[in-house]
Parts: sequence; C-alpha cells; structure tokens
Amino acid sequence: MAKSLLLWTLKASDATLAVTEVPRDDDVTIKVLYCGICHTDLHIIKNDWGNAMYPVVPGHEIVGVVTGVGGGVTKFKAGDTVGVGYFVGSCRSCDSCGQGNENYCAGVVLTSNGVDAAHGGTATKGGFSDVIVVSEHYVLRVPDGLALDRTAPLLCAGVTVYSPMMRHGLNAPGKHLGVVGLGGLGHVAVKFGKAFGMKVTVISTSPSKRQEAVEHLGADDFLVSRDAEQMKAAAGTMDGIIDTVSAWHPITPLLALMKPLGQMVVVGVPNKPLELPVYAIVPGGKGVAGNSVGSVGDCQAMLEFAGKHGIGAEVEVIKMDYVNTAIERLEKNDVRYRFVIDVAGSNLGSAA
Ligand code: NAP
Ligand code: ZN
Repeated sequence: MAKSLLLWTLKASDATLAVTEVPRDDDVTIKVLYCGICHTDLHIIKNDWGNAMYPVVPGHEIVGVVTGVGGGVTKFKAGDTVGVGYFVGSCRSCDSCGQGNENYCAGVVLTSNGVDAAHGGTATKGGFSDVIVVSEHYVLRVPDGLALDRTAPLLCAGVTVYSPMMRHGLNAPGKHLGVVGLGGLGHVAVKFGKAFGMKVTVISTSPSKRQEAVEHLGADDFLVSRDAEQMKAAAGTMDGIIDTVSAWHPITPLLALMKPLGQMVVVGVPNKPLELPVYAIVPGGKGVAGNSVGSVGDCQAMLEFAGKHGIGAEVEVIKMDYVNTAIERLEKNDVRYRFVIDVAGSNLGSAA
C-alpha cells in the first residue's frame, strides 16, 4: 500500500525499481492530480516529532483519478475521481477497526512516513508522487461537482475538524464554536461550522486575517488571542473550541472562553506539551479531548457534506518546483490558507 511508483525525490533508476512492485488484488492505482501541503508534512520534514524516516516523500491530502484496479476491487474502476487521506492501512481486526475507527488502530499505516508492515516494514511514500497504489478500503470517492484542487485539503484538514465536530455535538445550529488558529485546518473548520448553522468565532494571533475571516470565510467574530481585553470580553460564551494551533501556546485563556460543560478539542500537534491547570476545567466541568483525523467513514461523510454545501479549501495552487518555497512560507504562516501542488501539471516524469 502507498507504494509510490515514480517519485519526485528519487532518481529515475530508483523509480524503475519501485515500478516493478505488483499491485495486490485489492489495490487501486491512482494518478495523483493534486496534493495539499499539511503542517504535519512540515513537522515531519523538520523531524519535530522525532519520527521522520528520511528520505520522506510527504503528502496525505491526495485527489487523483483511478488508472487501474486489482482483480478483487469492487468499489472503484478506472476513470473514477478519488481521494486518499492520512492513512492507507489498518489491521482490520482490532476493536477500533471493528467499530469503524481505523484511524485509532494501533497498526494504522500512515500514507507518508508510515510503517508498512505488509510490505516488509518499509516507509510509505505519500502524494508528492505522480502515482500512488492504495488498498480500496482506504480510498475515498470524491463527489461530483467539487473543484479538485480545493478538495485535496479536505482529505486531511477537512476530516480532522469535521469528525470531532460531529462526535462532540459541535454541529448544531445556534451553538457557538471557537476556532483557534486560522490556517489550513482552521479555515475549513469555520466553513463547516457555518454550514452547520453555528455562530463561529476565530481566535487568532494574526490581526491581518480579521477582514478575510469575517467577509470571505463567513466568521461571525474574530478575537486576537494576544489581546487580553478582547479575550476577557468573550469569556464564557462558547459551547466548544477546536484548537488547530501547530506551535506551543497557552490554553488557559482559551478554556475561559467556554461556557460551563464546554468542550475543547485539540487537533494541532505542537512538539512541546501544552499546560492544563485543573482550575481551568474543573470548576466549569469543561472537557479537553484530542482527535486524530477521522475514520474512512467520517472522511466519506465529510466529502458528501462538502459536496452538498459546496465547501472547498481556499488554496494557492503551485507546481512541484515551488514546493520548497511553499514549505518555507508555510513555516512563516504565509499562506491563505493551503498550498496545493498541481502534481499532474508538474511534469514529474522528466524531472525525476
Ligand atoms: P497551518 O496551516 O500552519 O495553521 C496553523 C495555524 O496556527 C496558523 O495559521 C496560525 O493561525 C496558528 N499559529 C501558528 N503558530 C502559532 C503560535 N506560535 N501561537 C499561536 N498560534 C499559532 O497548519 P495546519 O495544516 O492547519 O495544521 C495545524 C496543526 O494541526 C499542525 O500541528 C498539524 O500537524 C496538526 N494536524 C493534526 C491533525 C490531526 O489529526 N490531529 C491533522 C492534520 C494536522 P493564526 O495566524 O490565526 O494565529
Ligand atoms: Zn495532514
């Protein structure tokens, strides 16, 4: 699974070796059209979490077209428009898999920089590739009518915010949602929140994002998290918060924004521990939960919802030769709001 056949980062001779791998019966061969650049790719590239297996081929926000299927594939055929997200395998026998929570399987195989036990424990190679081969069980169907470049980021950023909103009841009209960090994940959370009929407030370190958040993304309000007065005035007003911040930040002032019994869901993964003083949650009976992407079912449901409501990410589409600059800009918080690589338009073959 996730056997990338021709890799931007490999020489032609290496790629030829990879091409000799024979897809299995349940494998779907996908020509990659677009791949988003998630901050997780940046964490891995920088080895922020200490688990990078270089050389890393990043990319787990993939939209492509099926070019071939194994003999046992029933759900897809050549020509289908499909997506691949953060993982491409799981054990399919544990409690998590049985409950349809493959994303929480201890044996989950990540799409990029994952350990692929079924292929001798090799590191998986992600969507910064022109072709990817994935078991049909982890391939998503892209509904008709969605712009494919704007859909790619939904495969990770979209499901990562949609799935906890559904699980924690942060999808009810009239409820008040706080979205912390207006980046790739955050801006999609605003769009889902508004599509659910919620009041949505962005909590950001970037005052320059205010106008766009309100006028373009549809946020109802915008708080600058470093402005203590603004934060104080909004205390006790929110039913829930999705925290998407990629770096260390204080969460006590965020917890104060919630009503009693409010629920914060942390999806950002800073490499330093966040501080959680009990006084910030005990008196108000508040909750703090984590969330890792979403299941295959969550992801398919999210795509259907996006299709119905016309939701797509705000993207800056680039060619592969711009990828290093894009990654530097992502690190500087200089993207509105997701870089997406036009992989098919990047002439990878001649460059490899
Ligand atoms: P992103 O596009 O870089 O957005 C992160 C946002 O966090 C920035 O736009 C910025 O928003 C805010 N921020 C950055 N540095 C900050 C700081 N020092 N203090 C406070 N706020 C800061 O990243 P992303 O792709 O959305 O990913 C966000 C995080 O989620 C990453 O850690 C990523 O690894 C993680 N992630 C987790 C999952 C999961 O399943 N749990 C899935 C995907 C990604 P403002 O300018 O508005 O402050
Ligand atoms: Zn991601």
